[in-house]
Amino acid sequence: MRDAYSPDMENKETIIRNFTTVRERIDRALARRQAAGKPVQHVRLLAATKMVSAEEILLAAECADLDLIGENKVGELLEKYPALDGKLEQHLIGHLQTNKVRQVVGKVTLIESVDSERLAAEIERRSASLGIVSDILLEVNSGREENKGGVFPENLPELMTVCQAFPHIRVRGLMTMAPVCMEKEKYRKYFQETYGLFIDFLEKNKHNIIEPVLSMGMSDSYEIAVEEGATEVRVGSALFGRRIYTQTGTPSNG
Ligand SMILES: *Cc1c(COP(=O)(O)O)cnc(C)c1O
Repeated sequence: MRDAYSPDMENKETIIRNFTTVRERIDRALARRQAAGKPVQHVRLLAATKMVSAEEILLAAECADLDLIGENKVGELLEKYPALDGKLEQHLIGHLQTNKVRQVVGKVTLIESVDSERLAAEIERRSASLGIVSDILLEVNSGREENKGGVFPENLPELMTVCQAFPHIRVRGLMTMAPVCMEKEKYRKYFQETYGLFIDFLEKNKHNIIEPVLSMGMSDSYEIAVEEGATEVRVGSALFGRRIYTQTGTPSNG
């Protein structure tokens, strides 16, 4: 995995500089939100660490105070888990197959990609058998794209009702992956719509949601997401370097 990165990645300074830049941009986006008269929330930076080695993650934890990562794939999460366990918080942010639920429940503090009743039921079942309550986000397909994870906004209330009835699941909020947009401004409407759904969720649950989470925004869109109310942004390439995926899914230097 390591040789898939540019030599820059070996460089502590690059990591420090990237984290500093992203955090400054988040702060400036929050300042713009405040200036626009909107309620300002705390924003957590999650590093999306697909194809990033455990050593690089630990380096970022040490030199750039990284304390939260998100993995896409269960296999990759399990591979790095022994090296990272207890050193930082981990979320699952990618699509989760029902038959892999068993492998992640109890290992991550938040499963961000719950988008079906069947998946939620399996998380409930596995959590119950471990005697724990699992925190989840419901993933919204804000662009209503076919062949993409997440529930369509109109189907969210039904899934929410089902999930909230499970005693071993706690719905903390929403996650969305907007469609890829060439112009950054185009992201705004997806984030605005998802924020609206998040506010509905909070209002319906008044005081019962502990530390609600709205996870939206990636390297090319996190500033707009923060302006529109994200409480967590998931940033990968802006922190660890740009990856270009070939058709086989193998990253090459970009
Ligand atoms: C890869 C990924 C990200 C981060 O994407 P970048 O463009 O590299 O910042 C965020 N969320 C999910 C679900 C991802 O798979």
